[in-house]
Amino acid sequence: MKIDLPESVLEILDKFDGFGYEIYIVGGAVRDLLMGRLVNDWDFATNATPEQILKVIPEGFYDNQFGTVGLTVEDYKKPFEITTYRTEEGYSDARHPDKISWGKTLEEDLSRRDFTINAMALGAVQSTKHKAQSEKTKYSVLGTVYLIDPFNGQSDIDKGIIKAVGNADDRFSEDALRMMRVIRIAGELGFNIQGDTFDAIKKNAPLINKIAKERVKEELFKLISSPNPYDGILLFRNSGLMQEILPELEKCFGVEQKSPGRHHIYDVGTHLLMALKFCKSEDTVTRFATLIHDIGKPQTYRKLENGTITFYNHEMVSTKIAESIADRLRFSKKEKDKLIILVRWHQFTVDEHQTDSAIRRVLRNVGLENMDDMLALRVADRLGGGARETSWRLEEFKARLIEVQKQPFSIKDLKIDGNDVMKVLRLRSGPEVGKILSDLFEKVVNKEIENNKENLTSELKKFNDLDQ
Ligand code: ATP
Ligand code: MG
Repeated sequence: MKIDLPESVLEILDKFDGFGYEIYIVGGAVRDLLMGRLVNDWDFATNATPEQILKVIPEGFYDNQFGTVGLTVEDYKKPFEITTYRTEEGYSDARHPDKISWGKTLEEDLSRRDFTINAMALGAVQSTKHKAQSEKTKYSVLGTVYLIDPFNGQSDIDKGIIKAVGNADDRFSEDALRMMRVIRIAGELGFNIQGDTFDAIKKNAPLINKIAKERVKEELFKLISSPNPYDGILLFRNSGLMQEILPELEKCFGVEQKSPGRHHIYDVGTHLLMALKFCKSEDTVTRFATLIHDIGKPQTYRKLENGTITFYNHEMVSTKIAESIADRLRFSKKEKDKLIILVRWHQFTVDEHQTDSAIRRVLRNVGLENMDDMLALRVADRLGGGARETSWRLEEFKARLIEVQKQPFSIKDLKIDGNDVMKVLRLRSGPEVGKILSDLFEKVVNKEIENNKENLTSELKKFNDLDQ
């Protein structure tokens, strides 16, 4: 195997070597290089202290208290990160090491890393000075670089497994976020999780509650945005982490929904997972909405005497739950708003007898900008329930969506009507009411005001002021 490094990476290795320091590519970049994957996140480890690093690369910026210096490099979204060797001692709270100290050797630094496939280092062959810095450590030469792999990460990559460095149980009780990282990385790479490591997650899963929700959400979103989120979420569930992080979703499993004469073939939880599997949107929030769109079903479950199962009003309950999940997992406002729209309106009617204004109402509720994702959720919902991808009704609905956007909307679509005008302006019915409505209509068409009740009412009040 031959590994080609980008010019800008070779330059870093050269510079540090020139100053007489050890420097290695470490972490996910090594893993991705060995797998032939694109690297977008370059991390380096060195025996130089942060002050010394800044002498080698004065254009770098000192990032945090952990000895990391960042370097902005053209063509790379994420800055390169160069970190002094570290060791960590003692974790008493499942998330922060009690003490971080500079490590003396690369081996020390690698042994504090989470998984064998993440605990390898690549150095430049020409820097013979430290190539054999540790006679004990195995290394192999791959073209112009050599690989230091004390925990057999390369062989685990070949086997497609993720395994903790050292004792898995200890590693997860030290830092519980690592459990989410295993699942996320396994999901991203399509790897299996080694037996002891997986057992240790099951045992320690409740510790995940000690981790800041922002970080948990970040891992969950990375998992959901990976190419096969279905497999990843299945691991997430089987590991026991779903029960801790999304207990409302765990509750959906085993809730039956098969009624006589109805199409559902799966229980609610399995249906949600299958819907995610079929979701074609690249947008993470849409994928998440697909995963939880029926999350209110367990609470609204009713079985009628004839055996029919109903979930009356489930989209409202689902929306409430979606809202509390978004708050709990610290979604941004934009993410939360979109999640709520998609869950709230996922039951939109697709019916050949629908009026144009009913279709326009769907458009208004969902928003034109979310319509493609709403349709992706609907298709995923159908496929995840065992139905065909589309129906002639859905196709007709899509065609009509385009049609109604071409038609100008009429006075009837205003969010207030003649009664409101009469009430606010204390008028009797008569031609004047119609005239005022058509004035408002003009303003909405000309985008001077928005078509919502509040804005239209305050605009109405201005008519009042004019009269006096
Ligand atoms: P990616 O960049 O694809 O998200 P990564 O493995 O590179 O994955 P980073 O968060 O960039 O993840 O971390 C870089 C390296 O730091 C990891 O490969 C691992 O060696 C180490 N690391 C990160 N988080 C932890 C942790 N919680 N415990 C131990 N080592 C960690
Ligand atoms: Mg990385």
